[in-house]
Amino acid sequence: MDDKDLDTQLSHLGRDPAKHSGMVNTPVFRTSTVIFPNLAAYEDRKDQGFKTVKYGRHGTPTTFAFEEAVAKIEGGYQAVAVPNGMAAIAGVLLALTKDGGHVLMTDAAYAPARNFCERQLRPRGVEIEYYDPLIGGGIAAKLKSNTVAVYCESPSSLSFEIQDIPAIAAAAHAKDIPVVMDNTWGTPYFFPSFERGVDISIQAGTKYINGHSDVMMGLIITNERWWTPVRQTVSDFGYGVSPDDCWLALRGLRTMGVRLKQQMANGIEVAQWLQGRPEIFRVLHPALESHPGHALWKRDFRGAASLFSIVLRPVETAAVNAFVDALELFGIGSSWGGYESLVNIAHVENLRTATGWKPEGPMIRLHIGLESPRDLISDLTQAFDKMKAARG
Ligand SMILES: *Cc1c(COP(=O)(O)O)cnc(C)c1O
Repeated sequence: MDDKDLDTQLSHLGRDPAKHSGMVNTPVFRTSTVIFPNLAAYEDRKDQGFKTVKYGRHGTPTTFAFEEAVAKIEGGYQAVAVPNGMAAIAGVLLALTKDGGHVLMTDAAYAPARNFCERQLRPRGVEIEYYDPLIGGGIAAKLKSNTVAVYCESPSSLSFEIQDIPAIAAAAHAKDIPVVMDNTWGTPYFFPSFERGVDISIQAGTKYINGHSDVMMGLIITNERWWTPVRQTVSDFGYGVSPDDCWLALRGLRTMGVRLKQQMANGIEVAQWLQGRPEIFRVLHPALESHPGHALWKRDFRGAASLFSIVLRPVETAAVNAFVDALELFGIGSSWGGYESLVNIAHVENLRTATGWKPEGPMIRLHIGLESPRDLISDLTQAFDKMKAARG
């Protein structure tokens, strides 16, 4: 499959009908106990690696099919499924800071990742240093003899800066330090993280991979070098994922290509329209030429997800709230990557320590789903009218 296009791989990876009575999809295999044919085989199970069926917690053929498909699409060596994206972040950071050390963390990381560093790692003696997400090759000056990881997320949560991952990776690899990236926005389909120099990729499979807002799922994908330490840590902490959830997420993965391409087009159409509205100060969408990271995005990504932020011209909070509440096709809620449009307020004020980030006005995050962009634009238009009416 390696020589085939990603769309072909999405249809064919992670299933083997000949092994399962001709069934097109890998079935849901549920178990706790696994019975061995004899004592020797049982005693041997620990030497059989992480991809054999030996006990429910370590995965079944359903888990392995899903993991294999995601690892291949992203271009990594192996993947392990964990209960959700946050568990993937925690698992990777725990694996790399086992003996303490210094972690360089992007200042614009997903807020719960920051909380994990502050509430779990720092009290355990790990040194956490936040860096400017736009640092690029300048990261070299921050690497220390005890640095154990450079943690990236591109684009940044909420503010959407694009990081120069190849430049960061070149600097980190010169000192033999692994680069970790939360690649949830790029997805394995739009950002080939391993080709760009990432060593360990984190996916909130909850988002575009599953894509239907009904499963919590995380994945850690590594290159060959980091597979054993990461996989062992996941096992030591007892993370396991239900085969039903893996089956659903693998089902979602099949259509990730078509969903993403459509959502990219819808997202860009809505973002471009928003850019022309008088209420908007700027639109933070990397695929727009006005975005400061546009050239980097074009160089490194194969496409753009449909999650972006808008900065309104200064307006009273009550009017912003009236705008959000007036939207009929956008659900108000957390998460993203499903088939449906979502909206929430992006609070970035207190999330940064190494760099400032002061939006010129209220910031709103939008996720564009598979609805018709024409209907989404009508909905936004009527909501802007309500915002205007709510102004004092
Ligand atoms: C949602 C999200 C996560 C966490 O994923 P969960 O499955 O919700 O735990 C991690 N990183 C990013 C960038 C996210 O948006």
